[in-house]
Amino acid sequence: SIKQSVTVIGLGPMGQAMVHALLRQGHHVTVWNRTASRADALVARGAVLAKSVEDAVAANELVVLSLTDYDAMYTVLEPASHVLTGRVLVNLSSDTPEKTRSGARWVSERGAVHLTGGVTVPPSGIGQPESSTFYSGPREVFEAHRSTLEVLTGTDYRGEDPGLAALLYQIGMGMFWTSMLSYWQAIALADANGLTAADVLPHATETMTGMPGFLSFYAERIDAGEHSGDVDRLAMGMASVEHVLHTNADAGVDTALPAAVAALFRRGMDAGHAADSFSSLVELMKAAKP
Ligand code: NDP
Repeated sequence: SIKQSVTVIGLGPMGQAMVHALLRQGHHVTVWNRTASRADALVARGAVLAKSVEDAVAANELVVLSLTDYDAMYTVLEPASHVLTGRVLVNLSSDTPEKTRSGARWVSERGAVHLTGGVTVPPSGIGQPESSTFYSGPREVFEAHRSTLEVLTGTDYRGEDPGLAALLYQIGMGMFWTSMLSYWQAIALADANGLTAADVLPHATETMTGMPGFLSFYAERIDAGEHSGDVDRLAMGMASVEHVLHTNADAGVDTALPAAVAALFRRGMDAGHAADSFSSLVELMKAAKP
């Protein structure tokens, strides 16, 4: 079958991996990047470097964007505004749901269709079918381009709202950054006690591996509005997170993260949840809406 030609704009580590994946599958790929030299290795592999961003956009119906954020999209596409009509812009740059919604409006005002993508894997995961990207935007446009997009990663289409893919991406990233910081904290504490990252790796892995059980257990109860202290009590958690905080303080390592955790538990206690599960902190977090 004839492979769809694709334009890729933005050749950071992600964009470069995407172009390689498309070339490997026999797609004709036109590329453009602000810093042209980042296209060199791709051109050597058979990609075509467009002379201008207008040429890059005009070259193909399907245009994949892999930029730092949505502000970069306006900067890059402004000079190509007049050739956007009829294009399908698959924006795999990350940003907030609000920024992706206004970005999608900006694109449609110029006669093009916007699909939002939130890629959940690093560059090494591009070209792997088991990797996944959230997509949202017009369903029939997504379906029309699904098979080409699946060259990049598996696809997980979530609905029409252009902000939805970005929301799901940000939900995951919030968990990712916080979890990884908890790991850096563990390594700092271990180091202060003469242990290396390698020394604590098995225990750290075991701790993280136990998380899915907690996620599903609490998901059901939280959706049912159930925070009873039958399994755990916030007062117990309060004592525990203070032990964690003091262990870190005694070791002389940074306490910003454990102190923030203890502060949240303290607010739950002050709000009267001592006898409830620590899942009651979710209600506190919901209520912080402005
Ligand atoms: P980079 O930030 O390294 O590269 C982004 C690209 O954006 C570069 O080509 C850069 O051009 C271009 N760019 C940025 N600002 C401007 C501007 N003002 N004008 C013109 N071009 C601009 O990002 P990555 O390749 O790592 O990632 C791309 C997107 O994918 C990001 O939104 C990122 O959050 C997301 N992502 C990244 C992952 C990762 O592990 N790297 C994982 C999942 C998602 P130039 O080369 O000229 O600087």
